[in-house]
Amino acid sequence: MEEKTIREKSALKEWIDWAKRGNWSIPGYRIVEAPRGPKLGETTTDRYMIVERPHGVTYQHSLGLVSRFFEGLLGKELWGTRCPNCGTTYCPPRAHCWNPECRVAETEWVRLPLRGEIWTYSVMLFSATAFMEQLPFVLAYVKVDGADTAIPMQVRGIPPEDVYIGMNLDLKFVEEPKGDLMDLYGVPAGKIEPPENAALQRDPESVERLKRDLEGTYEFVMKRFGIDNRVR
Ligand SMILES: [Zn+2]
Repeated sequence: MEEKTIREKSALKEWIDWAKRGNWSIPGYRIVEAPRGPKLGETTTDRYMIVERPHGVTYQHSLGLVSRFFEGLLGKELWGTRCPNCGTTYCPPRAHCWNPECRVAETEWVRLPLRGEIWTYSVMLFSATAFMEQLPFVLAYVKVDGADTAIPMQVRGIPPEDVYIGMNLDLKFVEEPKGDLMDLYGVPAGKIEPPENAALQRDPESVERLKRDLEGTYEFVMKRFGIDNRVR
């Protein structure tokens, strides 16, 4: 049974202005007559009030003492921080050293080269909506040359089944950086040669299984978005 609107004061037309101002409650509602749970042999209805409450929230995050890192991304520069006491170099940056012996000493900014090495990675066959069009993709933790910590980024330009731990990368920026982590990605640098202990490439069965799974994702993205993400 269709629900029947008894009274309505729609919020939808007010949505744009309210969304700009914040997330206050607004006077949109509907009172409807609609089916009450199923009962054998009879259909009853009742009155229900439905409120319209758009959610449009603009979060303001201060990036604080590591702001320079994100500003650097805007200018296609990669910055990390270094502890003046122990020399530990952080990328992503930390404003203070985490080595207990340094007693949270303030770090100093250092420019880092656009080179790194895959520390570990995952092949993503499914994702949140925002990244779905890019599926399947490789999300890696990359140790930038000169840094002691690893930073997450996508690895592009290589079929996911060919990626391995220890792969050298050139780090690139998207054409128009937005000042967030997705501005940075890696592409293979030099010879692609899985090491002897590469768990995936040394096991043909695992490679075949992964390729089969990847194919399912390529087909899903093609059907849903009309995009062919196969790397050739
Ligand atoms: Zn330190």
